[in-house]
Order: sequence, then C-alpha cells, then structure tokens
Amino acid sequence: MDIGVTDRLRPLLDAVRKFIDDRVIPVDEEFLTEVGNGDRWSLNERQAEILEELKSAAREQGLWNFWLTDSEQGGGLSTVEYAYLAEETGRCYLAAEAFNCSAPDTGNMEVLERYGTSEQKKQWLEPLLNGEIRSAYAMSEPDVASSDATNISTSAVLEDGEWVINGEKTYISGAGDARCKIMICMVRSNPENQRHQQHSQILVPMDTPGVEVLRPMNVFGDDDAPHGHMHMRLARLRDSPGQARAGPYPSLYEGNRHGRACAEADV
Ligand SMILES: Cc1cc2nc3c(=O)[nH]c(=O)nc-3n(C[C@H](O)[C@H](O)[C@H](O)COP(=O)(O)OP(=O)(O)OC[C@H]3O[C@@H](n4cnc5c(N)ncnc54)[C@H](O)[C@@H]3O)c2cc1C
Repeated sequence: MDIGVTDRLRPLLDAVRKFIDDRVIPVDEEFLTEVGNGDRWSLNERQAEILEELKSAAREQGLWNFWLTDSEQGGGLSTVEYAYLAEETGRCYLAAEAFNCSAPDTGNMEVLERYGTSEQKKQWLEPLLNGEIRSAYAMSEPDVASSDATNISTSAVLEDGEWVINGEKTYISGAGDARCKIMICMVRSNPENQRHQQHSQILVPMDTPGVEVLRPMNVFGDDDAPHGHMHMRLARLRDSPGQARAGPYPSLYEGNRHGRACAEADV
C-alpha cells in the first residue's frame, strides 16, 4: 500500500498549502481576536467577511469539499491522500472551514451522503455541501462512559408516528454556533434488542422545540467560541409541526443493525 504523496495528490496539496500560506494565515489571528467582539456564538460582521471571502476564493479555485473519500461523489481521493490535506488544514484555525472540510460537518455530510434519503439530502446535505449552514453530532452524555456507544441512554420512543426524545448530551461541538441548523443525534430506540442493535441516529433540526443549549463547556479552560462544545438538554422533543417532511420523524436508522455502522462513518 502506497502511503506517500501520490501524483494526483501533489498539485492539490501544493495548491492547498499555498492558499493557506497566502490567504488564510494572514487573517487567522484577526478572526480569533474578533471573538467576543459582539455575541461570542455568532460571527460578527468582520468575522463573517473574512470567512466568506476565504470560502468563495477557495471554491473558485476548486479547493472545496475534498473530504469525501473513497466515493464516486467526492473528489476522488483516498483517505490516506486526504490525511495529507488535513495535516495542512490543521496548521491554523480557519483553513478547514475555508475549504468546507471542517468537523463535525464532514462526518455528518458523509453520513447523509451514504445513508440519507433523497429528501434529507435535499434539505440538509445540499446546504452543508454549499457551506451555507453548519451541523452538530450528538452522542456523548454526562451520566455514562460515552466512549462505548452501547452505553448511550438518551431515549427515543415512537408515539403517534413521532419520535419523542429525552436526554442530555455533553461536548456537542458547534451546537452553540448560530449557523448550526441540524444535529445527528444518537439515541437508544430499541432497548429490547441485543446490546449492539439498540441505537439509532435521528436527524434533529436545531430549532425543534425541546432542544436546549445549557452551557458552553471548557476544554483546558477555553470555551473555543464561536465553535464551542455544548452541554445540551433534549426534553420531550418531538417532530416540530412546521418542518417540511413526510411520515414519522426522519430517523436515518431506526434501532437496527445499521445504527452503529452509521455512527462509525461519522467519527
Ligand atoms: C473538544 C471535544 C469535542 C468533542 N466533541 C464531541 C461532539 O461533537 N459530539 C459528541 O458526541 N462528543 C464529543 N466529545 C466527547 C468525546 O467524544 C467523549 O469525551 C469521548 O468519547 C469519551 O467519552 P467520555 O468523556 O464519556 O469518557 P469515558 O467513556 O468515561 O472514558 C474515560 C476514560 O475511561 C476509559 N474507559 C471507558 N470505559 C471503560 C471501561 N469499560 N473499562 C476501562 N476503561 C474505560 C476510557 O478509555 C477513557 O480513558 C468531545 C470531546 C472534546 C474534549
């Protein structure tokens, strides 16, 4: 297996490196200095200007969405090739987002691309691919050892054709950002099943009544605004009436053997 820089990767890697050096690093510090100049969890005018200029310049140069690996839909890279690009984007704060390659959106887009229905793709994947909205992934919980997904205990119960969700989640990255519109939420939907077949992934729009951001959590004393890592409560959360969708709550995977495979694609 070749784990070096391949011929097809070389020009892209050079272009990404140059874009980061010439365009991103010169504004990175200014963007971070602006945090707290206004609401910590929304981009202020200058931050939005910096970011949107970077995104449109990157997109114009074709440096966009190269995260989707080993797929006919993506940029044609292997995961090993993408690792070289991720190493570059890790050099500063804004680079990953400038190329629409930032977590947790990349994992969430991959889940939607591989497992979503056409309706879910239209509503959530398209604006994510265009860098118009952001997303969150909610698995970890305060009361269980969350590194083992089989412990996840947020409940989802099907009532009158709607999933009713109750639980608390911790360290949910990006959930406090005003641009975050959709969250993939891991729930225990089928407690009667054997241990590895109890969980589902449910798409929860952030404006669903019952979704509550309790507080930003600190990591080594830093709240990482405006992205942040949130403690959240999901309280008797139901499918909200105004959402355009058919049938029961649009769960990606309902208590079945795919729930875990789907989560593994996301992390
Ligand atoms: C910056 C940051 C961002 C994050 N973003 C997200 C996010 O967006 N979404 C999300 O869902 N989560 C997120 N997390 C949470 C993260 O995924 C969890 O913290 C991680 O999965 C570990 O779970 P835990 O904190 O419950 O630790 P635990 O599972 O309690 O683990 C603590 C320690 O105990 C060990 N351990 C656990 N179980 C056992 C066992 N049975 N036997 C022996 N040892 C064991 C573990 O290996 C570890 O060393 C984030 C965390 C951070 C710090």
